[in-house]
Amino acid sequence: MDICKVIIQNVIFPGMEKMKGNQIRKKLVQLQKTEKWTFKTHQYYQVQSLKKLLFHCIHHVPAYQPFISYQNEIEENPLQALEKFPILTKKDFKKDPEKYRTMGVKSEDCIANMTGGSTGEPMHFDIDRETVEWYEAARWQGLGWNGIEIGDRSIMLWNSPIELQHFHLKKYQWKERFLKNRLMIPASDLNPKKMVEYVQLINRYHPVYLYGYASSLFQFAQLMEQHSIQFNFTLKAVVSTSENLYDFQRRTMEKVFQCPIVNEYGARDGGIIAYQCPKGSMHLTMQNGVYEVVDLKQKKRVKYGEKGSLLVTDLHNYVMPRLRYELGDMVSIQKEECSCGINTPILASLDGRLTDTFIAKDGSLINGEYFNQLIRVKKGIQQFQFIQHTPQEITLKIVKGMAFSKEELEDVIFRIKERMGEKNIHIEYVDQILPSASGKVRYAIREYDLES
Ligand SMILES: [Zn+2]
Repeated sequence: MDICKVIIQNVIFPGMEKMKGNQIRKKLVQLQKTEKWTFKTHQYYQVQSLKKLLFHCIHHVPAYQPFISYQNEIEENPLQALEKFPILTKKDFKKDPEKYRTMGVKSEDCIANMTGGSTGEPMHFDIDRETVEWYEAARWQGLGWNGIEIGDRSIMLWNSPIELQHFHLKKYQWKERFLKNRLMIPASDLNPKKMVEYVQLINRYHPVYLYGYASSLFQFAQLMEQHSIQFNFTLKAVVSTSENLYDFQRRTMEKVFQCPIVNEYGARDGGIIAYQCPKGSMHLTMQNGVYEVVDLKQKKRVKYGEKGSLLVTDLHNYVMPRLRYELGDMVSIQKEECSCGINTPILASLDGRLTDTFIAKDGSLINGEYFNQLIRVKKGIQQFQFIQHTPQEITLKIVKGMAFSKEELEDVIFRIKERMGEKNIHIEYVDQILPSASGKVRYAIREYDLES
């Protein structure tokens, strides 16, 4: 029996509910009770929430007050009315965040949050407790589909400097260990020398699941494989989050971890957007947000199944609402039935960030995964990072392996040029590819705006 779990379930959660009015478990029950609703019923309630939010925005949020004339349309068809509101990019929001704050809102009702800044400067914004609770409830709902309960012991492969600035490290670790029943392994400190120590720690701690960035979990699995180390027990699941989980990563993880690999799609500035069910579908969390997919150029909504940029309208954040917020991810959404019985639309493809999207010679879009597939198979290249600084300038960072050969490298360069056209490709040999400040390792980065 896991004493920590028992205490979390019977003391900590009831205590938080009594003293702080925390409603995560209540919301979770609500989500679980309604998860098998038909799509139409889900949509009915989603539209009601959207209507309420849009009315709030046009009356109480300075950025949206100019749209007061949309009143009738919001009343009649909120989803259609939403499309008339401007798309909000991170850049736009950062110019004047205060414009998005609800007038007269009390500071004690606002919870400061920020993005990790792995793709540039962090973005600061506020959310309210209601929003945080809905995010948490959605995460527990998704984990629950995969057999994980509140309070289950976990190990996180994480490296969030944001939290560490706010809390003293020791206090933070203590809280993690005893109030959340989890231990942290720093994602930025995964290296061959520490692997045996980490695996021993996991074997001793016996977590129910691992939770971490896709790139960190993959790196962990790779290092375990290279050193022929295995866990001495079976995990219920490994949950990958915050980044695109590529098929090659999933395959390696399945082979090494010997358990289901579950994908969580969420973002600090977008909440828990979709969760993988045991049948492998990524179900959208319709109760938390309205998700639109628009094409990159015209910014018009695309049909179900077509790819585009994801816009998120969080339905619960009343302190600083962001309508049609462009998260910066390329996705497609499908309305298919899933045999698990949950009837929310499915995130059919998640192609990663827009900053991982490149333009081919013929004008079509290439996902960063293309470079992965191209370079990963080269035996002499241990690690790489592809960075496109401008439309013409590319740097390819390479960690040479024992079998490195000029022919392989020339083949890589030839294929990049074949797909992307004639470019200046600078090769930089490095000892390792360092994770960004957030702890994530990125394989392909575009540093210029697609529109420019
Ligand atoms: Zn499903």
